[in-house]
Amino acid sequence: MKYVLDVHVHTISSGHAYSTVMDYVREAKLKGLELMGLSDHGPAMPGAANIFHIGNQRVIPSVIEGVHVLKGVEANVIDFDGGIDIHERYLKELDFVIASIHDVCIQPGNEEENTRMMIQTMKNQPLVDIIGHSGNPKVPINLKEFVMAAAEYDKIIEINNSSFTNISRSGSTERCQEIACYAKDFGVKVIAGSDSHFHTALGVLDTAQQVIEKAGIEDQYVMNLSAEKFIADLRNRRGL
Ligand SMILES: [Zn+2]
Ligand SMILES: [Zn+2]
Repeated sequence: MKYVLDVHVHTISSGHAYSTVMDYVREAKLKGLELMGLSDHGPAMPGAANIFHIGNQRVIPSVIEGVHVLKGVEANVIDFDGGIDIHERYLKELDFVIASIHDVCIQPGNEEENTRMMIQTMKNQPLVDIIGHSGNPKVPINLKEFVMAAAEYDKIIEINNSSFTNISRSGSTERCQEIACYAKDFGVKVIAGSDSHFHTALGVLDTAQQVIEKAGIEDQYVMNLSAEKFIADLRNRRGL
């Protein structure tokens, strides 16, 4: 089945990405995507935009040239208690929130510490919807405990397509496959994300899709198959 949405997208506002919102919208249209989500890096990332940039996304229309545009952020986990770099009052205004660990924003600890950090993030951040690129071998975590916690706190686990390339987080492949298998076992929702830093990468989700399909995750747990279903899931999670 065709994946019709991609919400891991960085524009020039992230500081180390090279395309505009409109570059992405046109790419989405070209590729027949129903929906794209803006998820520029949170302000703790060196070179990222300040919080007002994240908070002012309401000025962007929700539908542009027939493409649904969700307003979000890729927040940075900044402490071992699961603190992130965006205040709740901004999170509330957004359509969706990804939280990820980036080793330029926090020095990862050992496996036990990192696992606890991930679990605390899910527990303490009700407005976080998606946990980004958790298969990163540079931030080792106990994958089984992590996925079990995602089930408990109803978080969506991202399977990050860029993690399968040599561009970023090399060595993630096996860990991502393992995460997908646990997600199948524990009934956790997953979403494939491109982690685009240039618009031609938008919607490039093929390897993530293969991993999700190979793990046997049922369609109802895959968030890329229907914009309507994904939006409903976000609203439900936010009590809207
Ligand atoms: Zn980035
Ligand atoms: Zn990231």
